[in-house]
Amino acid sequence: MLSHWQHEGEEKKMTNEEVMQLFYDSGAMLKGHFKLTSGRHSDVYFEKFTILRQPPYVEKLCRMMADLFGADKIELVVGPTTGGVLIAYEVAKQLGVDSIYAEAGEDGKTRIFKRGFAIDPGTRVLIVDDILTTGRSVREVIDLCNSYKADIVGLGLLLDRSGGTTTFDYPLKSLATIAADSWEPSECPLCANNTPITQRGSRKF
Ligand SMILES: [Zn+2]
Repeated sequence: MLSHWQHEGEEKKMTNEEVMQLFYDSGAMLKGHFKLTSGRHSDVYFEKFTILRQPPYVEKLCRMMADLFGADKIELVVGPTTGGVLIAYEVAKQLGVDSIYAEAGEDGKTRIFKRGFAIDPGTRVLIVDDILTTGRSVREVIDLCNSYKADIVGLGLLLDRSGGTTTFDYPLKSLATIAADSWEPSECPLCANNTPITQRGSRKF
């Protein structure tokens, strides 16, 4: 019989594979030869709105996330625009609580609440987002929630594509983790093979 920890490891591995499969099946995980926003090249690209626009996938992923935080007595779910709005709404729906979202402030470096959104001090908050890369949006939402003296219980991500290298001062739970390779164009093995750059957004590759 597996020990508790082995069992948990197996379960996590299964979830990871299952979630990556959902991303792939939805068409949001593209394989090819891509130029990322950073200018680096990669053999995998996530078109996150391809999965976020399909409610059955969003519902399934958010059920997994709601389960991860089900015992944490969450009182409010908060996400950053734009993908985080959908995730926050669906996770909150499944936890039976409210959701609000944080929008870009005028300085472009901070997040703000609009539309009458606010957090009462001490509220047990879960911060959620779709895909974690640098963690900038999540950090901005943490700062905003702290300015309201919220009790940040955890951070929930659908996918951590930093391979677990982006960390925070609060418990982070990702449904899946992937360390996607990327290269400077001069060091890109796909360029070296003369593999044509895949047009982003095209599912024909
Ligand atoms: Zn390349």
